[in-house]
Amino acid sequence: MEVGGVGTAGAELSDPRFEILVARLGADLVMGGPEIARYCRDWHGDVTTGAVAVIRPRTTADVSAAVKVIGELGLSIVPQGGNTGLVLGATPDDPAGQVVISLERMTAIRRLDADDFSAVVEAGIVLSEFKDKVEAAGLYFPLALGAQGSCRIGGNVSTNAGGINVLRYGMTRDLVLGLEVVLPDGSIFDGLSTLRKDNRGIDLKQLFIGAEGTLGIVTAVSVKLMPPAEQVATALLGLNALSDAIALYRRARRDCCDLMSAFEFMPPVAFTLAREAMPDLAMPMSGDYPAYVLMEISGSGLVDIEDLMQRFLQGVMEEGLVLDGVVAGSRAQARNLWLFREGMNEGQAKRGPHLRTDVSVPLSKLADFVRQAEEAVMAALPECLCVSYGHVGDGNVHLNVLPPAGLSRGEVDGIIYQAKGLINAVLARFGGSISAEHGIGRLKKTDFLSGLPETQAHLLSAIKRAVDPHIIMNPGCQLNFTTDS
Ligand SMILES: Cc1cc2nc3c(=O)[nH]c(=O)nc-3n(C[C@H](O)[C@H](O)[C@H](O)COP(=O)(O)OP(=O)(O)OC[C@H]3O[C@@H](n4cnc5c(N)ncnc54)[C@H](O)[C@@H]3O)c2cc1C
Repeated sequence: MEVGGVGTAGAELSDPRFEILVARLGADLVMGGPEIARYCRDWHGDVTTGAVAVIRPRTTADVSAAVKVIGELGLSIVPQGGNTGLVLGATPDDPAGQVVISLERMTAIRRLDADDFSAVVEAGIVLSEFKDKVEAAGLYFPLALGAQGSCRIGGNVSTNAGGINVLRYGMTRDLVLGLEVVLPDGSIFDGLSTLRKDNRGIDLKQLFIGAEGTLGIVTAVSVKLMPPAEQVATALLGLNALSDAIALYRRARRDCCDLMSAFEFMPPVAFTLAREAMPDLAMPMSGDYPAYVLMEISGSGLVDIEDLMQRFLQGVMEEGLVLDGVVAGSRAQARNLWLFREGMNEGQAKRGPHLRTDVSVPLSKLADFVRQAEEAVMAALPECLCVSYGHVGDGNVHLNVLPPAGLSRGEVDGIIYQAKGLINAVLARFGGSISAEHGIGRLKKTDFLSGLPETQAHLLSAIKRAVDPHIIMNPGCQLNFTTDS
């Protein structure tokens, strides 16, 4: 795997294994040559690699046939959705031994049932397209993340994606009712039930949620749908400190109860970063504050959301917990506020390679964790910029470290490695998780394995070997399996 390079190993069209794949599966499904470069690059473009082929099935039967042939050829499989994962789970690491299976052509909504509040959808549909179609049917699918215009529902299931609405609706796991999965021997696990309650023993679908393609290929998903949020109130609030944001969150949980759907923390540099990516963004507030919260409450039916937001803000401003705030007066204004939150990600990417973390600690310890981790980084690497933000309501923070401009790639990698070690050491003291949302993939495998208790490692290995005895599925991801282990 080449880090920071330009495209290398495209599929060799003369590779006999490529020719067998084409002969057995048909040229329509099998892609090779330079065309596959985009499937072999991670989202940031930091890592470029290659594969024997990319297979793009149209049906579950196609996936099953492909898995069987790939197994017979002694190759392994890297499943891919929208390729927006940030931990290299969908990026091959053995160009001569791996085939990417992209679900991008399996996009049908098989059923959408307004009476059951459920849908059955194929794994390759882009999340935002699915949400739009659900909305057109008068319902709502609450999974919402910055990558929703590109990520696909099978990828969301396989990473157990979180996003901005977790505090109200839970992670993807909480939204899944059933799965259809092609197993490593090509057989099909048909668990596409839409039952809300089904307590017949061990819930097998849970094995595949968050498995990052290491146990099978998710081909379809049945999900819960919700009534649409007819009223949404979005506010950007200026505060004195992150600790006040946490106090505000506790207060909002009490005053706005289950109607709060998002509560994001941003530092002041968020606005600079967002405007580096989107220069036309108009500044929403005139003053500068040490900390910002982007908060949303939403509901439908007889509840008056606007009134609730006004009364809530009046109380917390009178108490001095919130120094200043703007409430969006329209959907367009609300969208503009969210663009700062989304744009700050792009702004960081524009500044070049940097350390991206996705950690969680108990909410009560979040402010102390961020302070101590930032202090540790600044003491050792004073020339760097720490950018801490995230889904505060879930105790989930992205504490990113941006090296100064003008360094070589080797120097940047050294800083990233050092900063990660410093942050992980503080995280361990707080009993936190190195992966709140993004999974393990290939990027976090070493850190994951070094902290994995023996009993847990044994259980995970036993499950992997029982489901995938020939180690065909995504061998470099999560655990340390290879095809010949
Ligand atoms: C700007 C941006 C913002 C983001 N924000 C969030 C956020 O708020 N919350 C969050 O949780 N994540 C976030 N992410 C990360 C990413 O979008 C999620 O992890 C998403 O769920 C990945 O979906 P995908 O379709 O792109 O999966 P991919 O990146 O293609 O794959 C991810 C993993 O799942 C496996 N996989 C993919 N499809 C299948 C399948 N059908 N069957 C079996 N295995 C499969 C892959 O092998 C890989 O291991 C963000 C990413 C970006 C770029």
